[in-house]
Amino acid sequence: MALASAPRIVIIGGGGTGGALAHDLVLRGLRVVLVERHGLTSGTTGRHHGLLHSGARYAVNDPESAVECIRENRILRRIAPGSFEENDGLFVALDESDMAYRDRFLPACDASGIPVRWLGPSAARRLEPGLADSILGAAQVPDGTMDALRLPLRFFATALANGADIRPYTEVEGLTGSTGCVTGVRVLDRATGRRYKIGADVVVNAAGPWAGRVGRMAGVEVPVRPSPGVLVAMRGRACNMVISRLHPSADGDIVVPQRMLSIIGTSSWVAEDPDDLEVPEDHVQRMLAEGARLLPALAGAEIRAAWSAARPLVGARGAATGRELSRTFKCFDHDDEGVEGFVTIAGGKATTLRGMAELAGDVIVARLGLEAPCRTAETVLLPHTAFHRAQAA
Ligand SMILES: Cc1cc2nc3c(=O)[nH]c(=O)nc-3n(C[C@H](O)[C@H](O)[C@H](O)COP(=O)(O)OP(=O)(O)OC[C@H]3O[C@@H](n4cnc5c(N)ncnc54)[C@H](O)[C@@H]3O)c2cc1C
Repeated sequence: MALASAPRIVIIGGGGTGGALAHDLVLRGLRVVLVERHGLTSGTTGRHHGLLHSGARYAVNDPESAVECIRENRILRRIAPGSFEENDGLFVALDESDMAYRDRFLPACDASGIPVRWLGPSAARRLEPGLADSILGAAQVPDGTMDALRLPLRFFATALANGADIRPYTEVEGLTGSTGCVTGVRVLDRATGRRYKIGADVVVNAAGPWAGRVGRMAGVEVPVRPSPGVLVAMRGRACNMVISRLHPSADGDIVVPQRMLSIIGTSSWVAEDPDDLEVPEDHVQRMLAEGARLLPALAGAEIRAAWSAARPLVGARGAATGRELSRTFKCFDHDDEGVEGFVTIAGGKATTLRGMAELAGDVIVARLGLEAPCRTAETVLLPHTAFHRAQAA
């Protein structure tokens, strides 16, 4: 529990990144208020694919992100036992060009420290009998399935138990302070209609794909490009492992078994407004067609739902599809641009939420001149059910 005199940090955004940061900062002895305009995890966090990345998907073209993923994959399994289906993943070769990609993929996984094992077609189909008969082989990696809601709830639950003040349905409408110095936030309590201010030593922008909009409240340009993608949930489990195509990332090339569903994803484009996302029918059809090439049973399965969500990717303007942008994460201390008391943490994956929080926490304590090391890699999280109990109390 933080001292009453400890610096106060306001976090904007109750997705996985904000939740992990609240947990990180209270463990470092800081006072934390987190504000979220809707329900917790209602942004991209509550709508993602549910793949605990090994990093293999990024090993060839985005090695920085690959290394982040395998490191965080290992840490999350340790600090959140029971939150994952430890089912592993197969990157499946369907044709000769996939086999040629294998020659870059296997050494790239090795170079990023991702354990990988090559399997011939029969061995791969023994592990995953639903794979197409014609596959040429597959690479086994430590991907896994995670529950998109319950993992972040464990961060919120532990942060609450350690004294964080978590305020859902509280929208930041503006910042307080003067030009060049942020001293807090102006919020609207959407449940009561009350408007009030919260003072802070540091305000953190953890607003995911909305980070650009929040940055503009402070007069800074945050280089976050909302990059939506479509996901399609099919009834039934067409596979028990995470199945990906062994080729450079493309549409419809991942199937994640999630409870009694198979989730096919995803597409990628760049949007201006993350509140205005469509679910283009041609993307849905592409998911179905590509998913069925890997797992033929998907061709006859019933669609349970189709939706889209926006990735909060960091990169310069001008990206065409979002696939060319790295999945790594960045922390911006806007003091460097002449705005004191305002920090942004953006980019990354749901898999790297803890690592993003560690980076932002390091920047914040350094800015405050404190010695307070990160402790989240060794702290086992409370179960997600503790969150509901704490909220009801
Ligand atoms: C289609 C798709 C599939 C994906 N699949 C995977 C996957 O399988 N595995 C994986 O690791 N990653 C995956 N990702 C990436 C992952 O979902 C995101 O990187 C992650 O969820 C981002 O979390 P966040 O907390 O940064 O953002 P968000 O979850 O979007 O949280 C930001 C929050 O800020 C709030 N907010 C915005 N403005 C304000 C304001 N003014 N006041 C208060 N609150 C505000 C929003 O309501 C939102 O809840 C996927 C992404 C997409 C789009």
